[in-house]
Amino acid sequence: MSRVVSFHYTLRDPSGKVIDSSAGADPIVYLEGAGQIIDGLDQRLRATAAGAKARVQVPAAQAYGERDPSQVRRVKRAVLPVDGELRVGDTFQAGVDRHAPTVVVVAIEGEDVLLDANHPLAGVDLTFDVEIVTARVATEEELQHGHAHGANGETCE
Ligand code: ZN
Repeated sequence: MSRVVSFHYTLRDPSGKVIDSSAGADPIVYLEGAGQIIDGLDQRLRATAAGAKARVQVPAAQAYGERDPSQVRRVKRAVLPVDGELRVGDTFQAGVDRHAPTVVVVAIEGEDVLLDANHPLAGVDLTFDVEIVTARVATEEELQHGHAHGANGETCE
């Protein structure tokens, strides 16, 4: 039986650096098994109850995947839609579509630029410190829609 779960989290990389956190914001709300959060976390939170705290370690392969070297491409600087200075670390949308991947400049070599389309967290093993805020049985409607309708079932996006 799938549940709708809300939780707060702090996400750290293997060095302990905080990458992201829900502190100060609303908790994350998701429907179990619906792909709303990364698989490794979804699976590990199945047995948790409201009020529980858990440290969940998710290897890169179950999070944002391993880095794919073929996603790093060399392009001519002149083809990039940039006026002015280009710096390592700058990001672009790789196309006009709003779902186009974001690419990051990883190196500038003369007239060439190396662009990386890997997710910024690809290849990174993740540690989540999670506190479950609420957990309830999903409604029929949520199961049909394939997403959570908020912590109390009040909203459909
Ligand atoms: Zn809905």
